[in-house]
Amino acid sequence: IAKNNALLFDYHYVERILSEVAHEINNPLSAILGSARLIQESKDTSVIPLASIISEEALRLEGMLANIRDFARPPRIEYGQVNIHRLLKHLVNRQQPLLVQREIEVREHYDPSLPEIAADEEKLYQVLLNIFKNAVEASSLRSSISITTGVSLGDVPGIGYTTWLIVRIADHGTGVAPDHKEKLFMPFFTTKPQGTGLGLPISMKIVSAHGGKIDVESTVGIGTVVSVFLPLKRRQASAHQEVNYDRGQ
Ligand code: ADP
Ligand code: MG
Repeated sequence: IAKNNALLFDYHYVERILSEVAHEINNPLSAILGSARLIQESKDTSVIPLASIISEEALRLEGMLANIRDFARPPRIEYGQVNIHRLLKHLVNRQQPLLVQREIEVREHYDPSLPEIAADEEKLYQVLLNIFKNAVEASSLRSSISITTGVSLGDVPGIGYTTWLIVRIADHGTGVAPDHKEKLFMPFFTTKPQGTGLGLPISMKIVSAHGGKIDVESTVGIGTVVSVFLPLKRRQASAHQEVNYDRGQ
């Protein structure tokens, strides 16, 4: 490689490395999760706290890897019928060890008339997990997070008028500083020592590919509300699918 080229960011190389890394870590991770479950179900109660730590760390890695993987290759959306409430309940249930440890109460306000939606279940789970994890990470001990679902006919700026399925995740955490607001969806923007800064950009990519939008309202010291809008009548999302990051080419 010529000296000048050495400084260029070789995206294809990085993509390949990242997807290999994600693949390599994923297998042992499954083993960790499996063993942790076995310990949790064991009769010897002294091992239980250890298992929670394993689970928690493994879950963190799992979420991070999903984000790295999707950053490496743009998400290919596979549509199916998705029950959002089932997805949310599964998510909250899986995060229970962390919630118990931080004494965070989750209030679920689910609209019983919410229809199923044509979407990619796995990718949507990843989006909701990213947003929920951010809410948990911003929350102080003994606070609450509320999850609200609903349907609304209305205009989403930049997208248009249609019927939307809305999922709102609200926390009473730190809030987002005004000068950080426009950076939230930039890859690698993070204010956390162990953050990757990939959660929101990947989530936006996935939601955009569904023809939807993510909205963030936040006040420092009060909290943050993140709303995910998904179109209920699936349309050609071509205008929104091409949300690519500036790859400097
Ligand atoms: P990461 O969580 O790895 O830092 P994200 O893309 O998920 O990356 O989030 C980027 C940044 O946005 C976070 O580091 C944080 O500063 C801010 N942020 C996201 N969600 C919230 C929230 N609910 N409350 C406060 N800040 C948030
Ligand atoms: Mg995050």
